Amino acid sequence: MNTHPLTVDIHQDRGGPKQALLEVRELKKYFPVRSTGFSAKPQFVHAVDGVSFSVAKGQTLGIVGESGCGKSTTARLVAKLMAPDSGSMVFDGDGVDEFRGIALKDFRRNLQMVFQDSFASLNPRLTVAQTIAFGPQVHGMGAQEANQLARDLLARVGMEPDQFGARYPHELSGGQRQRVNIARALAFDPRLLILDEAVAALDKSVQAQVLNLLQELKSERQLTYLFISHDLHVVHYLSDQVMVMYLGQIVEIGPVERIYGHAVHPYTQALLSAVPSMDPAQRTLASPISGDPPNPIDPPAGCRFHDRCPKAQAVCKARAPRLLSVAADAAHQVACHLNDPQSGHGAPASSATYAGLPLHEVSA
Ligand code: SF4
Repeated sequence: MNTHPLTVDIHQDRGGPKQALLEVRELKKYFPVRSTGFSAKPQFVHAVDGVSFSVAKGQTLGIVGESGCGKSTTARLVAKLMAPDSGSMVFDGDGVDEFRGIALKDFRRNLQMVFQDSFASLNPRLTVAQTIAFGPQVHGMGAQEANQLARDLLARVGMEPDQFGARYPHELSGGQRQRVNIARALAFDPRLLILDEAVAALDKSVQAQVLNLLQELKSERQLTYLFISHDLHVVHYLSDQVMVMYLGQIVEIGPVERIYGHAVHPYTQALLSAVPSMDPAQRTLASPISGDPPNPIDPPAGCRFHDRCPKAQAVCKARAPRLLSVAADAAHQVACHLNDPQSGHGAPASSATYAGLPLHEVSA
């Protein structure tokens, strides 16, 4: 049972492991582009374009993709740091759009973010202890209790309270600052942590320590993570599910071992093939991806990956592929005509398999 003093009763049930904590449906966000000339037609960057996914309680969904694929915008939409153009979200069974007053406040408390830039995330005028205690105090916790909470959380993230509590951010290393950011997020007793490139700026040994800490906290506090990273190794380490994005859309999503062991989408295969692996069994045969992503203001018709895809055919330029399940695991879904027997893609279905797995349509 959760006994945190800030907890409001509406989300007491931390639930079974397979129940969805967060469901995202058809989320869209287009950013207007400032007009540069005589063009009368308004233009938009298609940052997030019809993204749907869910994250089960106590699980980690890793989001990967090249820079500009929409993963960080997706995170900000989920955190309600910006409003979507369309789409909806459900948090623990309740529609997020319906949240008002205490329910909205509670949602914001339940969902915390940790960003890549650990220094910019901290107020340089507050000590470490003040930083952690600040949020709970704003939410009504007494000063003494908040200070004790800050000490407890500092100790939990591996920082001696007497040694670090009175320090300022500039007196800490990058790894220590990120631990403080994690402690500050935990001070709200959240249920969902969004980690947006949270370990990207750390050197490898510190990164490993912070990843281990995140793993421990996840099981200890039954946390759910949305973990955004360009580093496929750390995504593999931390994630239960992986979502691959390309130009604002999901191209492949599924259990981590399916994605890393049996990737189907040529883009995912190319991403994985670019990752050096110590294990020959994990190496893919696909060529590394070439070229840059297309202009997100004017995405290509059909499959958005077609001008970089070695398996593209005419149908790929004419029609966008549907996100369909793979036969071996319905939770593994791919948006590629190779995975759609009805698409008219010239390659036989068997050539679309990866590691010999047959593909077939399960959902439309
Ligand atoms: Fe390649 Fe066509 Fe599949 Fe797109 S739909 S990834 S272009 S094979």
